[in-house]
Amino acid sequence: SPALHVVEWSDVADWYPRLGPSSEKYTRGVVGVATGSATYPGAAVLSVGGALAGPTGLVRYAGGARDEVVRQHPSVIATGRVSDAGRVQAWVCGSGLGTDERAATELRTVLAAPVPVVLDADALTLLVDGSLADQLRGRDAPIVVTPHDREFARLCGEEPGDDRIAATLRLAAWMNAVVLLKGDRTVVGTPDGRAYVNPTGTPALATGGTGDVLAGLLGSLLAAGLPAERAAAAAAYLHGLAGREAARSGPVTAPDVAVALRPVLARLP
Ligand code: AMP
Ligand code: MG
Repeated sequence: SPALHVVEWSDVADWYPRLGPSSEKYTRGVVGVATGSATYPGAAVLSVGGALAGPTGLVRYAGGARDEVVRQHPSVIATGRVSDAGRVQAWVCGSGLGTDERAATELRTVLAAPVPVVLDADALTLLVDGSLADQLRGRDAPIVVTPHDREFARLCGEEPGDDRIAATLRLAAWMNAVVLLKGDRTVVGTPDGRAYVNPTGTPALATGGTGDVLAGLLGSLLAAGLPAERAAAAAAYLHGLAGREAARSGPVTAPDVAVALRPVLARLP
């Protein structure tokens, strides 16, 4: 189909924001990260790590793992709640957040902000269980959801099946959101029927927490102003390369992927 595009290095090189002499931390974009909790501080550290590797100038963290986040990433401005975080140009919300009432409130606050959002993990569970569908449909700013297969099944009521592109596009149209369906060949689909396939995946990424790094990087690309579908396609591509880069020095853990994004990004022309 002509609407299907296999992502290439040259696409990412075209799309990726660059620094210039007039770059300034706020104009590079500020990304907000609402992930993690006292129970799951690692999810916060990993998603912030992905966001810091991206093109934005400032990361604001809002959530229950602020001490751990600041200890691991001293450049982050951290608050306990989304409502106290200040202005951002995109939000990343979900992994390790939990699904309690407090988490639902944080998700509602994120969705009320007039900026692009990435929803992952527990945010997807909250979408299914909560009464948030109206808030989704009424939203003008883009939403990117990043399910793996089980999260997809929870959202859709069925597994993606063999035709992963068709499944991605179905969910994208139904949610009126950009869908990034994770897997061996990650698919990105838009509500109006465009699809991208990422060729850089590696099974080295099949380990806990790598999706959190991806969500953070994606949020940074959105906050830097990339259109949602390009941000999603570029994030999947670069994340895959980072997985390969990390695997060169042995078995991969999620923090290695965040670190390996740097040499990958250094290869951009
Ligand atoms: P999550 O399950 O949320 O931690 O996300 C896992 C990440 O690893 C996603 O970016 C997947 O695309 C990637 N991943 C998992 N398994 C594979 C695989 N077998 N081949 C390529 N990428 C994978
Ligand atoms: Mg995940």
